[in-house]
Amino acid sequence: MRNLKDPAQRHPEKTHRKVNIQPRKPDWIRVKAPGGIAYEQTRKIMRENQLVTVCEEAGCPNVGECWSHGHATMMIMGDVCTRACTFCNIATGKPLEGLNPFEPGRVADAVLKLNLKHVVITSVDRDDLEDGGAGHFATTIRAVRRRNPQTTIEILTPDFLNCDPSVLELVVEARPDVFNHNLETVPGLYPEVRPGARYFHSLRLLQRVKEIDPSLFTKSGIMVGLGEDRQAVFAVMDDMRAADIDFLTIGQYLQPTPKHHHIDRFVEPEEFEQYKKAAYGKGFLMVSSTPLTRSSYHAGDDFAKLRNARMLKLGRA
Ligand code: SF4
Repeated sequence: MRNLKDPAQRHPEKTHRKVNIQPRKPDWIRVKAPGGIAYEQTRKIMRENQLVTVCEEAGCPNVGECWSHGHATMMIMGDVCTRACTFCNIATGKPLEGLNPFEPGRVADAVLKLNLKHVVITSVDRDDLEDGGAGHFATTIRAVRRRNPQTTIEILTPDFLNCDPSVLELVVEARPDVFNHNLETVPGLYPEVRPGARYFHSLRLLQRVKEIDPSLFTKSGIMVGLGEDRQAVFAVMDDMRAADIDFLTIGQYLQPTPKHHHIDRFVEPEEFEQYKKAAYGKGFLMVSSTPLTRSSYHAGDDFAKLRNARMLKLGRA
């Protein structure tokens, strides 16, 4: 039995990597320490429903703030990922278990207990499954909607790279409100940062979502501070707009352990503002660009703004 708390067992493929000293965080990266009654309540509901969260597995810095508002991002299909991205803290390897048929119901139940108006559901990559888990995503979306008809649903999916392209339709036809898939970084850094993925495949996936159902909102994000330059970030924005992506998130990369990809630099808050301004200029409906931005950070409030922005654009506000 693997001990996923032990870094060497959690990331066996990273044991041979060189040690990258983690630099001290600058003053502008300040987070609320986890704790408090509401935080514990969120934790309890996750445990009772036997759910995994990306908040914990990825070591998200915002967990203190989000969980004290009952906002947890549930991660379906297990806690072991079949990819080995060099930025990510989720355990890697071959999952030993199949999919849990009770999981969609447990997610739906947790959404009800947390009284969520907006839920974000993500997953590990499951390259071992023929449909990459697309069917399980669809079942989970439907279970949440049945039990919580007023709750809006945002999904953050893998890229379904090795699957038949038609599996994407399974997910889109379940009609999540927001379809998010992160590009994570600029194309030039893919071989180092996201070696198992393909930049243009991910971009095309998001474009196809819009082609299948233009009413869905699409969202994608990148991390900065991995070694990209500013021109490459602007070029990613252009690619995203060409794929008709509505919502862009940009956040600072934070290195989970010394064996992960090194932090190239801490991007200053002013630069995040410049990215935000440029992105709005390029036509995104919604942009979140701050050091602590993560895909699901403030996702409920941002969804309301996103919807309003579309109504305004259509002249229906
Ligand atoms: S930003 Fe997202 S992943 Fe991080 S704690 Fe909040 S909900 Fe969880």
